[in-house]
Amino acid sequence: MCGIVGYIGREEAAPILLYGLSRLEYRGYDSAGISVYNNGCLNTVKAVGKLQNLIDLTDSGKNVPGCVGIGHTRWATHGQPSDINSHPHVSASGKISVVHNGIIENYLELKEMLISEGVQFKSETDTEVVSQLIDYYYNGDLMDAVSRALAKLEGSYALVIISSEQPDVIIAARKDAPLIVAYGDGCNYIASDVAAVLKYTRQVSYLEDDEIAVVKADSVTVYNEYGKPIDKAVTTVEWDIEDAQKGGYPHFMIKEIHEQPKVIRNTISAHIKDGRVDLSDTILSEEFCRDIRRICIIGCGSANHVGVVGRYLLEKYTRIPTEAVLASEFRYSEPIVDEHSLIIVISQSGETADTIAAMREAKRLGAKTLAIVNVVGSTIAKEADCVLYTLAGPEIAVATTKAYSAQLAVMYLVTIAIADKLGRLDAAEHDEIVRELCLLPEKVEHILADKEKLQQYASQYFNNESIFFIGRNLDYAISLEGSLKLKEISYIHSEAYAGGELKHGTISLIEPKTLVIAVATYEKLFDKLMSNVKEVTARGANVLCVAQQHNSGSATDAVNNAFFIPDTHEMLTPSLAAIPLQLFAYYVALSRGCDIDKPRNLAKSVTVE
Ligand code: GLU
Repeated sequence: MCGIVGYIGREEAAPILLYGLSRLEYRGYDSAGISVYNNGCLNTVKAVGKLQNLIDLTDSGKNVPGCVGIGHTRWATHGQPSDINSHPHVSASGKISVVHNGIIENYLELKEMLISEGVQFKSETDTEVVSQLIDYYYNGDLMDAVSRALAKLEGSYALVIISSEQPDVIIAARKDAPLIVAYGDGCNYIASDVAAVLKYTRQVSYLEDDEIAVVKADSVTVYNEYGKPIDKAVTTVEWDIEDAQKGGYPHFMIKEIHEQPKVIRNTISAHIKDGRVDLSDTILSEEFCRDIRRICIIGCGSANHVGVVGRYLLEKYTRIPTEAVLASEFRYSEPIVDEHSLIIVISQSGETADTIAAMREAKRLGAKTLAIVNVVGSTIAKEADCVLYTLAGPEIAVATTKAYSAQLAVMYLVTIAIADKLGRLDAAEHDEIVRELCLLPEKVEHILADKEKLQQYASQYFNNESIFFIGRNLDYAISLEGSLKLKEISYIHSEAYAGGELKHGTISLIEPKTLVIAVATYEKLFDKLMSNVKEVTARGANVLCVAQQHNSGSATDAVNNAFFIPDTHEMLTPSLAAIPLQLFAYYVALSRGCDIDKPRNLAKSVTVE
């Protein structure tokens, strides 16, 4: 998920690798490292923290000589950020060095097998199994060893490998993680994104899943999944470095919106084993779940909105009283929690000051804490009794999209796991939900493919002074997030109301042409929300409705514009309903010429009270 660079040619590799890594720094990372071949050995230097630490340690690369090398900036998913856990990972014999982006899902199994064969591991990462496995299979032919190892890997990877035994070659392979080969003059490069190599060349090939590239100083051969060499199209990159960092998208926010299918898939698949939700490595044992009398979900901003979704879901499926509380309110509210309380803390960065303080207060009162966090090794991840990571990768845009979606995915898993332990979810419904969970990424793709419709609606409404969101139950929770997204990046005044609350206040604000966005995906209350829609249209409001496909008939008749999401299990509609609202906010902000990735006055991670 973070940065990779490889170089093979006639120049000193280390400065090229360090420069390439510096162009990937924008993505965020927690450590960096390089391996360079010289005189029969692989020299590997790694440093936790900023890339500058590695630059200092290597004297800008001068004390790591050699013309073949690989480099990496790591965003930890398995194992704390540390020197040892940083990449490259070198096999115990010292022969094979590997950098990896992504997650090896079956690493524990492979690690056990290798340990039983006497292999000694140094790190806690999933990645180290790759270098050790390639070494285990190595019998004089690096390509053969890599192919055999790849056949055993499950999960996602961009892998780049060098060996002290065959130093004239770099091997690269990918599955569900980007990787390019770039062509120089008497040299070639590998990178996870073109920003790393644009200074040197604009000629690149994009590797596809299951392809393997064998890169030498003066040749590149790409093999397909059947081991046959193929002709790869060479593209000339026209972007400048800034565009390249955004993967060709105009803003990080829209890039991250498009990453959501992958992020949801990664987050879910980490916890589904043999068709069942498996959180057995957390505190959620049956005994623990039976002892919970109260659940409190703590977060700020969008994380609080995930909490509101969680509140509806947990109460419905587990029948345990649940609240979603703003961290800043919780910490000073003399909360009634004790050792029978489960406190779920949600934070993208794991460093949100109010959330940390609230978590510490809950722990002091004897409660057990489960954190949903995106950053491994963050304060919340370290201090909580147990952590479930959102595998969203680094999020650059200030307004969250993919981390929010990953948090929702974890919230479903927690709900299902607790309900299951309490015997409140019958096997058929469990299976049905898991089946639908696994289809979410595809359904999100489907919505993304329809984004022009939202761009068109945005162009109709971007001049509105106020935009209201209404919804009931889960749709109310999603309305809160849709409204926040809109005000964060477009600066339009917006409020979200529970449908039933309209006549207790908001309806006085409805004037002819006011836009009301009606989120109507919660089946049981669809008709009720449509009654609210009638109330506002009778006062002249324009209504944009978001509903499930099977309600397209009844929804279209009542409103000015409608957007339909694919049908899904009722628990999971938030994940689909959120996407059109993110896209609408994005396109409205775009039409208004706002600074989308860095909205005024906002910070990505709020580390002050
Ligand atoms: N899963 C690997 C690790 O935790 C790779 C992380 C990355 O993509 O940077 O080391």
